[in-house]
Amino acid sequence: MVRRRCEHGAVKSPPVPSICLPADLQPVDGRFGSGPSKIRPEAIASLTASGAVLLGTSHRRPAVKRLVSRIRADVSSLFDLPEGYEVVLGNGGTTAFWDAAAFGLIRRRSRHASFGEFSAKFVTVTRRAPWLEEPTVVDAPPGTAPVLAAEAGVDAYALTHNETSTGVIAPVVRPRGADAGALVLVDATSAAGGVPVDPAEFDVYYFAPQKCMASDGGLWLAAMSPGAVERVAEIATAGRYVPASLDLGIAIENSRLDQTYNTPAIATLLLLAEQLDWINANGGLAWSAARSARSASYLYGWAEARDFASPYVADPASRSPVVGTIDFDDGVDAETIAAVLRANRIVDTESYRKLGRNQLRIGMYPAVDPYDVQSLTACIDYIVERL
Ligand SMILES: *Cc1c(COP(=O)(O)O)cnc(C)c1O
Repeated sequence: MVRRRCEHGAVKSPPVPSICLPADLQPVDGRFGSGPSKIRPEAIASLTASGAVLLGTSHRRPAVKRLVSRIRADVSSLFDLPEGYEVVLGNGGTTAFWDAAAFGLIRRRSRHASFGEFSAKFVTVTRRAPWLEEPTVVDAPPGTAPVLAAEAGVDAYALTHNETSTGVIAPVVRPRGADAGALVLVDATSAAGGVPVDPAEFDVYYFAPQKCMASDGGLWLAAMSPGAVERVAEIATAGRYVPASLDLGIAIENSRLDQTYNTPAIATLLLLAEQLDWINANGGLAWSAARSARSASYLYGWAEARDFASPYVADPASRSPVVGTIDFDDGVDAETIAAVLRANRIVDTESYRKLGRNQLRIGMYPAVDPYDVQSLTACIDYIVERL
C-alpha cells in the first residue's frame, strides 16, 4: 500500500489545520468507513485476476451460477445454519429488503425495537404500508438498546443486530412468550460476519454486503428459516399484491437456482465470495468476530484512557465491536479531527450526521486490521496535541 501524502484542501471553511501525520504513525490502510467499508486490496486484485473471466458474462450461465452457489454455501457455513434454512438473495440492498419484508413476511402486525436511524427506517416502512396494521414500537434513546418483550397479536418481531448510526450492538434473542409461529426478522446489515449469532434465535437474518462482507452495495442476502419460507408462501396464497421485484417468493425460487430475479452486479458477488472465503478459511465467524472485537478493545480502551475522549455508548455490553462511536470534549472538535485525518487520506471517520454529536465513528469490520485501529488512535492523539 502506498503511503498517503497529505492534501490540505480548500474545501472546508474554516480551513483544515495543516497537520501532516508522520508516515510511521499512519495506518497501512486508511479506510475506516461504516459502509461502504474497506475492501481488502487482495480481494480487489482478484477481480482483475481470476474474476476477470466472469465479469461481463451472463448471470444465467453455469460460471456465475457456480459463484452464487458458492456464496450461498459459504453464508450457510459461516452462520452454521440449521437444516432447512435457505440463503436467499436479490437486488436493492437492505432498503429494498425492508419493502420486500413488509410485502412478504409480515402477516398483519410487526413489533420493532427502534434505537437509531436504521431501525427507525423499517418502522416507517411498516407504518406506511396500507395492508398492515399499525406496528408497535419499543423506543430506546440513541446510544442504548431496547429489550423487545413479546406481545399478543404480533406475527413478526423486527430487531437490528447492530445500529450503525449509533454504534450500539443489541442481543439477537426470540422474545419469550411470542405467539406460536411469530417470526424474528433481524437487520444484520452491519453485524453479519463480524458478530457472533445463534441461528436458533432468528427466522430471517438479512444484510447487504458493503459492511462486514467487504463488498459493494446494491445486493441483499437473507438466511431464512423454514418458518419464514412458509410465511412467504402463506401470504402469496392469501392473494396480497406484491410487485415482482420485491416478491420474496420469486427471490426464493431464483435463489434455489443460484441466480437472482434480475441482473446482479457480478463484481459485487465476486468481492463477497472473496470475503466469505477469507473469513471461512481463517476460522469462520468466531475468528472474524474476535478480530473485530480486538479492534474494538483498542479503540474503546484508548478512548477511556484519554481525558478528552470517551466511548459514546455508556454500557460496555452495548458497545459495538464493529462500529465504534467516540465522543470528544467540547474543547476538541471532532469534525476538525476527521477533516485532518481525511487530508492525510484516513477517511470516513465522521460521525453519523443526524446524530448531531461531537463524535467520530470508526468502522472496525473484519477487513480492518486491528493494528490499523491502534495506529488511528495514535494519529488522533497526534492531531489533538497540535490543535
Ligand atoms: C447500512 C445499513 C442499512 C442500509 O443498507 P442499504 O444496503 O444501503 O439499503 C440498513 N440497516 C443497517 C443496520 C445498516 O447498517
